[in-house]
Amino acid sequence: MAQVLLIEDDPAIRSALIRGLTERGHAVDSAAAALPGLESAVTNRPDLVVLDLGLPDLDGTTILRMLRGASRVPVIVATARDDEAEIVAVLDAGADDYLVKPFSAAQLDARIRAVLRRSGDTAADQAVVVGGLRVDPRSREASLDGIALDLTPREFSLLHYLAARAGRVVSKRELLTEVWQLPYGGADKTVDVHLSWLRRKLGETAQEPRYLHALRGVGVRISAPQG
Ligand code: CA
Repeated sequence: MAQVLLIEDDPAIRSALIRGLTERGHAVDSAAAALPGLESAVTNRPDLVVLDLGLPDLDGTTILRMLRGASRVPVIVATARDDEAEIVAVLDAGADDYLVKPFSAAQLDARIRAVLRRSGDTAADQAVVVGGLRVDPRSREASLDGIALDLTPREFSLLHYLAARAGRVVSKRELLTEVWQLPYGGADKTVDVHLSWLRRKLGETAQEPRYLHALRGVGVRISAPQG
């Protein structure tokens, strides 16, 4: 999903996070110290930087100021201590969010997605149009052929997630982790139930789909009706 630069000197933490983020679909570059990390941030232009505050060569606020001098890339800092003064200092120095160690790759992934949503990558804010379906994430309104759809917040999120990926098959696992932010396992009935509610609100049936196409055992795809 995102190109992430991880600056972390502890090899065990670094490899665990690289593995965990890669499993969640991110492309991860890493550096073991501040200076190579800064160089990579400038050269490789990642979507987001995860910065350990306890690095051998420079302290966290110095790194952040140097980074902010060169780039507006969103930064999540990882700190070993729940030290309020230090956290405030790095947020003031331009960090977007922070996590206190130890944290899991799943937690970090959730923060990465939240920061990227907030950082105003405007493509994510644009209304999505698929055939007669229009989904506007800013107002959280959706309509079909000009008529407003009465959706619950979850149905809206589900519809928006699928519509933003129109034509692509999205797995239930991806929906659970991205829309519900739940780990996969057993809960895929939840997805089925919400899909059937959404289908009803779109005025179609599983037997005669127009927009919402379920692919048994694979996932679901939104696409505009043919003809
Ligand atoms: Ca460290």
